[in-house]
Amino acid sequence: MFCSSARGPVAVPRKRQDVRLYVCGITPYDATHLGHAATYVTFDTLIRVWRDAGISVNYVQNTTDIDDPLLERAAATGVDWQELACSQIALFFQDMEALRVIPPDSYIGAVESMDLIVEAVQGLQDKGFAYTLETGDVYYRVDSAITPPFGSVSHFDRKAMTEVFGERGGDPDTPGKENPLDALLWRAEREGEPSWDGGRLGRGRPGWHIECTAIAQRYAGLPLTVQGGGSDLVFPHHEMCAAHATALTGEPFARAYMHTGMVGLDGEKMSKSRGNLVFVSKLLEDGVDPMVIRLVLLSHHYRSDWSFHESDLAEAEQRLELWRAAAKLGSSLGAEVVVANLRQELSDDLDTPAALGVIDDWASAALSETAGAETDEIVAAVDALLGVRL
Ligand SMILES: [Zn+2]
Repeated sequence: MFCSSARGPVAVPRKRQDVRLYVCGITPYDATHLGHAATYVTFDTLIRVWRDAGISVNYVQNTTDIDDPLLERAAATGVDWQELACSQIALFFQDMEALRVIPPDSYIGAVESMDLIVEAVQGLQDKGFAYTLETGDVYYRVDSAITPPFGSVSHFDRKAMTEVFGERGGDPDTPGKENPLDALLWRAEREGEPSWDGGRLGRGRPGWHIECTAIAQRYAGLPLTVQGGGSDLVFPHHEMCAAHATALTGEPFARAYMHTGMVGLDGEKMSKSRGNLVFVSKLLEDGVDPMVIRLVLLSHHYRSDWSFHESDLAEAEQRLELWRAAAKLGSSLGAEVVVANLRQELSDDLDTPAALGVIDDWASAALSETAGAETDEIVAAVDALLGVRL
């Protein structure tokens, strides 16, 4: 990324890679609401479970540090788009650190990946999978013959695709497109917008999907073991990433997709248009223990849509106090059994609510025991697997 002050870990060459995980990162204009946090804590927990099982992980996350929402927010607030991105990225890092999210091995921005992206777009052109409009904008042809076919990630039919495409960043009404669902690969330079050298594409900036495709291919390697993100990314984002990658390489993009549920507020959808986003930084400012936030997030299964209520914080605080009290007292309950149960629940589709239940039971038992025993092993397992410091 271009923000040297907020730079994350750089790519580290690895000798052995059992699994390749790519999780779609933030567009840095509005970080970090609880929905973001739920997603990144989920994948952090997955990585903890993998590592605990002796699996080597290469985890790559992008940051979409140039895209329409970022430029729109910058224009609306009168802040330079780069300053906005840098400040939001710094905030995101702070929030992730507080939540004890282990940083990805590679954290890569779109701006620093222009060469890769341009190369990928040109590759699609060379293979006949892309076309250029009179405006100079380059589009991916969704009717391209590829295997696995377009639609194999989301399993949406064309009607369902059409319904959400426009709502999720697509531009079905752009004149001249062969198919309304065709995805932007390269947006030709516009007056007053930042642009980069695209070689024969001309100056411009990248589409969102090809950004992730190119970064994943370069830094994680394809096929990915898992591509992750919020469930709203299933279509068009992950579908398009997969289509671009398959068109380029002839191979599937990812072996598995893992999507996290949407987080609402008091039964309503949480969104910037409703102005009801709950930010991690605000909760931390209000003095909420970050481990309480992490426990709120882990108390929901990652696949579920759920709604945050203020009272969730008090419940999680109570749970954390119970666990911490038990950790201090010690328990005669066999640590080996507790840790084995914890591992078992997490290995069952990352069942974090059940995993929390295992520790609840241990803590209750510990607090009702009179004789103390060593609890270090359990405290270490809660720290390592759940990311909760007691
Ligand atoms: Zn992505």
